[in-house]
Amino acid sequence: MNTQEKKQAIEILSTLYPDAKPALHYGSPYQLLVAVVLSAQCTDERVNIVTKTLFEVAPTPEKMLLLSQEQLERYIFSCGFYRMKAKHILSATKDVVEKFGGEVPHRWEDLVTLAGVGRKTANVVYSVAFGGDAIAVDTHVFRVSNRLGLAKGKTPEEVEKGLQKAIAKSLWSKAHHYLIYHGRRVCHSQRPNCEACALKDICNYYEKSKK
Ligand code: SF4
Repeated sequence: MNTQEKKQAIEILSTLYPDAKPALHYGSPYQLLVAVVLSAQCTDERVNIVTKTLFEVAPTPEKMLLLSQEQLERYIFSCGFYRMKAKHILSATKDVVEKFGGEVPHRWEDLVTLAGVGRKTANVVYSVAFGGDAIAVDTHVFRVSNRLGLAKGKTPEEVEKGLQKAIAKSLWSKAHHYLIYHGRRVCHSQRPNCEACALKDICNYYEKSKK
């Protein structure tokens, strides 16, 4: 995919998904942080069900820290990987309270220092909660970017770097949502629906699959 085609890909995606936005429910940057941690290997729908109850009991960092690891695990059990997620939520929350006065930090450099918070979570919180320019690379973004040839890489970080080069900074956050929508609706992991895909004429994967 050349530079012009990369630009074209984002334009097509923006036409396909003009209303692309996060599907996670949250009422504050802190709640978004918790929801994003829970969303790893789990659907947004399931996370929204779990957080509806969890945020009634623990809507703030201070209230969250009143829960023991075991109590939190019981609330988030159905999201999968619940032990690890509970550990990450509690350690990040402790950092938010002890190092940032109970407020999730606005700066990306601070977000990534929170215990249990990786680049993906930091990028989502930074762009969605604080309006910063960032591209979070989840499983959909990783797959679709590699298939298209928009950004090739073996790790999420490599793909993130490639997307940052391929896409105008002002569109990074939007592009993240476009690629997620396309991965969920058309470019499925097992059977991508290439024949119905509006990007097939410029897609590396489709071009190779025809040979
Ligand atoms: S043509 Fe196929 S592989 Fe390429 S983006 Fe579309 S669905 Fe995915």
